[in-house]
Amino acid sequence: MLSYQHAYHAGNLADVHKHAALAWALDYMMKKPKPLTYIETHAGRALYDLGGAEARKTGEAAQGVARMLEQVPATHPYRVAVEKVRADHGPEAYPGSPLIAQTLLRDDDRLHLAELHPQEHAALRTSLRNRTTQIYNQDGFELALSLTPPEPRRGLMLIDPSWEVKSDYVTVPRTVQSIAARWNVGIIMIWYPILTEKPHLPMIRTLQSAFPDALTHEVAFPPAREGHRMVGSGLFVTNPPWGLEAELQHLSGSLFSDRKPPRRGGR
Ligand code: SAM
Repeated sequence: MLSYQHAYHAGNLADVHKHAALAWALDYMMKKPKPLTYIETHAGRALYDLGGAEARKTGEAAQGVARMLEQVPATHPYRVAVEKVRADHGPEAYPGSPLIAQTLLRDDDRLHLAELHPQEHAALRTSLRNRTTQIYNQDGFELALSLTPPEPRRGLMLIDPSWEVKSDYVTVPRTVQSIAARWNVGIIMIWYPILTEKPHLPMIRTLQSAFPDALTHEVAFPPAREGHRMVGSGLFVTNPPWGLEAELQHLSGSLFSDRKPPRRGGR
């Protein structure tokens, strides 16, 4: 059963890490006029309301996107995407990764998005109406395998599970190796949480030995609330675009150091 709902966590520090990297990489890829494919295996609902009950309950966006908007330049593609979505949907709107991609990408690029949860899938369909975006109510790993190699061949795949199913730590590296064998030019970006028990470590070791040239980038932050197990965010990127590592180091310096202590109490 799927119980994770991203609305509680939208715009938090982990989202800033993941979404800033994604926006930067897509923007970099668009410097070439050739069209590209964007595939997302775990899409979520794409449009979040930071003034809604779920986001207010955790208050996580205050340390994430709210701070990011003060610190990254107005020309950063992540900030450009957030501000464009806010101009369209109001000042409390926050774009998830599918909406960041759709906002930045061009008319001849192709988007394929999988979301398994019926409610999230319905919301995703409502949020994204665009003739070049295809939305599937299907397991994201199966979709990724069935679509690769995609057309156009240049492209990026984001794998961002909720990690509520423990087998994801085994399924992800196995699936990524199969995808990369079919699509060796694709950029595959995996987001993973850094939890206090560090369940990601064996998976990262497997991925690093299968993809020695990939980029691993991790940031640490205090838990959002006392007792919260997430203490950092990780990205593993195959075929990383040139400059992504420097960009992430720069972002970490401005956003992930000097963290404030966690709020006490709360959810
Ligand atoms: N990528 C989104 C973003 O950054 O805006 C957030 C995605 S959220 C972390 C993970 C989503 O994956 C949830 O909405 C959940 O319902 C969905 N999900 C869980 N298992 C799935 C599966 N096997 N295939 C597709 N979607 C799945």
